Amino acid sequence: MIYLFNILFYLSFSIVAQGQVLPSVTTDNAEYDKLDEFCTRVNGSFKKYRWNKIICNPKRWKYEKISTQGDPLIYQTFFANPNSKKNTFIFCGIHGDELPSTYLCIHLVRDIIFDNPELYKNSNIIIAPLVNPDSFFFKKPSRLNANGVDLNRNFPTKDWDRLALHLWKNHYSSAKRRYPGPEAASEVETQFVVDIIKRFNPERIISVHGPYGFWDYDYLGSKTEWKKVKRTARKLGKMSRNFPVKDFRVFPGSLGNYAGSDLQIPTYTLELNSVRSQDSHYLWMRFRNSLRYILTK
Ligand SMILES: [Zn+2]
Repeated sequence: MIYLFNILFYLSFSIVAQGQVLPSVTTDNAEYDKLDEFCTRVNGSFKKYRWNKIICNPKRWKYEKISTQGDPLIYQTFFANPNSKKNTFIFCGIHGDELPSTYLCIHLVRDIIFDNPELYKNSNIIIAPLVNPDSFFFKKPSRLNANGVDLNRNFPTKDWDRLALHLWKNHYSSAKRRYPGPEAASEVETQFVVDIIKRFNPERIISVHGPYGFWDYDYLGSKTEWKKVKRTARKLGKMSRNFPVKDFRVFPGSLGNYAGSDLQIPTYTLELNSVRSQDSHYLWMRFRNSLRYILTK
């Protein structure tokens, strides 16, 4: 049954490729070989977690940067209307041990290409499903990247130089799992996310974490815009079977601080209420409506 599904899923790509949500596909052989080898290992992990509804298809991804341990930092643009400046950037797996995060991003690709392409016909979406692959592949996946850095404290926020290491040492007793790195954006995985934000200038950003269980929003622009962002966050909560919504604080080097405060791009963080691999599909079912809403708004 699983094999039949996989065959159908692969086939679907070539059929839907005639449609309008058409991601660009690599034609470079060396690049393709690397993606193929990468996806084979990713699919091995999916199999281990019994995630039989999703698959890593090397034809769907591209990359320019590679992780500390040599894996491609994959992403794709699903631009239904390339002339529109409206686009949303969603990324997953920045903390490698929050397993359902990557499941959601990959299932989203299935939703866009295969299950519900009509929903996305006016939407421009950039997806990076596995920002921290090194840690995802560790025998015991970890929050940190291969250099021991918490990538969500490594973004080049205006307050990084002044506060990040100071706070880490004095407030968090140099806790390993919160190490912000030797300097701002020292990590290639952080640079990867920053580059996408700079290149595509998204209208909004979504990142998926766990397990604290709330929707969080960050935005430091005009009061009027902030109210809109807050309203959207509340709607996301409602659409996720009444999931809590918080205006959680930001940290030196966190995405919310970098994108939401410094760059004034509305930034929504979905903190799933579980990081257990076996809860992944349930979490997709619970959050798919809110994700569809924010991605097609
Ligand atoms: Zn996280």
